[in-house]
Amino acid sequence: MRMILIIRMNLLVLFVSLVFISILVSYIFMKDNIHPKFYPKVKAKCACGAVYEVGSTLPEISVEICSNCHPFYSGTEKIIDTAGRVERFKKLRDIAAKTPKKSKVKKVTKTAKKLR
Ligand SMILES: [Zn+2]
Repeated sequence: MRMILIIRMNLLVLFVSLVFISILVSYIFMKDNIHPKFYPKVKAKCACGAVYEVGSTLPEISVEICSNCHPFYSGTEKIIDTAGRVERFKKLRDIAAKTPKKSKVKKVTKTAKKLR
């Protein structure tokens, strides 16, 4: 019984010493300069004028939209137009509204006549 206890203690000591040695080796051979510099107080500026203080690896941040001005959070309609796509869509919508629609009634009557 005593022998088993002594062997267990020896194994425990061996395991702890191995862990200690591995930590020591990893500390000694740790790589330097692999992490970017962290800026704890960076001002993130939005296009709407809101400024937020965040932590980042970038020295300064500028964003186009934030929670202050995003339609989902603000509840107001704001269209983020890129390359005039929205303008083109509005023009097409106006043109479509002005031109009279081809009525489906004619088609229905035609098919009704065919059926007769
Ligand atoms: Zn904003």
